[in-house]
Amino acid sequence: MTPDLGKLESSFSGRLLTSADDMQPFLTDWRRKWTGAAIAVAQPDTTDDVAAVMRWCHTHRVPVVPHGGNTGLSGAATPDASGESLVLSTARLKNIRKVDKANDTITVEAGVTLLDVQKAARAEERLFPLSLAAEGSCTIGGNLATNAGGVQVLRYGNARELCLGLEVVTCDGRIWDGLRGLRKDNSGYSLRDLFIGAEGTLGIITAAVLKLFPLPAAQVAAFAAVPTPAAAVELLQRCQAKLGASLTAFELVGQEGLALVEKHVSATRRPLDDESPWYVLIEVSDAESEEHARAAIEAVLMASFEDELISDAALSSSISQFNEMWALRENVSESQGAEGPTIKHDIAIPISGLAKFIEQAHRDIATRYPELRQVVFGHLGDGNLHYNLSPPAQSGNGGDKQDFAALEAPVNKLVHDLVVNYGGSISAEHGLGVLRRDEAQRYKASVELDIMRAIKSALDPFNLMNPGKVMS
Ligand SMILES: Cc1cc2nc3c(=O)[nH]c(=O)nc-3n(C[C@H](O)[C@H](O)[C@H](O)COP(=O)(O)OP(=O)(O)OC[C@H]3O[C@@H](n4cnc5c(N)ncnc54)[C@H](O)[C@@H]3O)c2cc1C
Repeated sequence: MTPDLGKLESSFSGRLLTSADDMQPFLTDWRRKWTGAAIAVAQPDTTDDVAAVMRWCHTHRVPVVPHGGNTGLSGAATPDASGESLVLSTARLKNIRKVDKANDTITVEAGVTLLDVQKAARAEERLFPLSLAAEGSCTIGGNLATNAGGVQVLRYGNARELCLGLEVVTCDGRIWDGLRGLRKDNSGYSLRDLFIGAEGTLGIITAAVLKLFPLPAAQVAAFAAVPTPAAAVELLQRCQAKLGASLTAFELVGQEGLALVEKHVSATRRPLDDESPWYVLIEVSDAESEEHARAAIEAVLMASFEDELISDAALSSSISQFNEMWALRENVSESQGAEGPTIKHDIAIPISGLAKFIEQAHRDIATRYPELRQVVFGHLGDGNLHYNLSPPAQSGNGGDKQDFAALEAPVNKLVHDLVVNYGGSISAEHGLGVLRRDEAQRYKASVELDIMRAIKSALDPFNLMNPGKVMS
């Protein structure tokens, strides 16, 4: 029986959406892969409001789907089709509560966009280093709930490592104030770490204390052509040894991906004359000066050129060139999408096995599915690849699309079996959501699944928090 929304409506006047039109933006995911239904969408303004919604849901046993910026790529912010869930949007939890410069921390509410956190930090001459292409839309609550990665994990870590404390509303509407700005706190289980990466299945994150860092004095990017992934990995190791903490990103792009960016993004300028099977984008953030940054990266590139690890390289000499080089990397995913449907894999491999993995995956896919285009790119410095596949260039009619869709399950199995053989993960930074939920059950050890289920039932005994996500 549908519970009476009356009491909730009277206390959330104007912030409880119930009409199909109003709710529609909250019921489909970013990629338009999943669409669901809901009894209502609540948009609380404060943590106390969130607690009131959660108490109502708990009393009436209504499932809750937390919803941030809706940029997640695993379908975890979309309700199922039953229409029994309430979507809880954090969009109005928008306050920057505090910047503590001496402690190098910022305390923000869950609905603040990642871009606004970065801006607030910069206004205080500090860096909040989490950075990803969706930063204008994604929220800090969503970043923490998915333990987002992005482009500077190599230097600063992922969202988990950037968070010191949380405020969370539990499934029964109680508020846990864990907003501690401590870099050392061994006073019991790390509850914070339970909620980070839980994809909204354990509680609602309403605020967080985040770490800040000094702003770099200068940033320089290098775009280098490498003959093989093995050469890229060796170059990474050299950069780590010679550049230390100033190496802030090390990204890989295959020729296939770069060609798609050139095709679909107007004004794209390739910084190197000749084609190469692989490229790396290296970012250096220097505490001293641009000259210092350039000298350091140039020395590594010169030595690597002499040793034939790279065949060519270009350095950015202005902010616009720096941004242009980054655009080559960041536009790969969207450009591939412009070619039609995509089979995506967000995988992590120990860096020591990465080159061999790419070689074997390339060979196995080319043998079994020679028609597929392999578009490989990602955060090489973190061992995180986006190993994506596209149908042949000339396809595009409905029949071909169906054939391509039928390949998704067997191709996923091929790639993910290989990932697991290499000691890797089938979800590096996008979470399990519904996309990888069932596959994860297959790959995880039963003891790991048992521990996860025990945690879930302890924190959410009625399975009201984002049910069907992460675990079935
Ligand atoms: C163009 C593009 C580029 C991207 N690049 C990257 C990348 O480089 N690295 C990366 O890691 N990700 C990337 N992503 C994925 C996405 O941006 C991240 O997963 C982001 O962290 C999601 O934040 P969100 O606010 O949009 O969350 P949503 O999509 O709204 O929700 C994601 C999950 O978090 C839960 N959730 C949201 N808010 C809360 C809360 N306050 N409390 C509890 N649970 C909550 C939801 O229920 C859902 O399970 C990219 C996405 C796009 C579209």
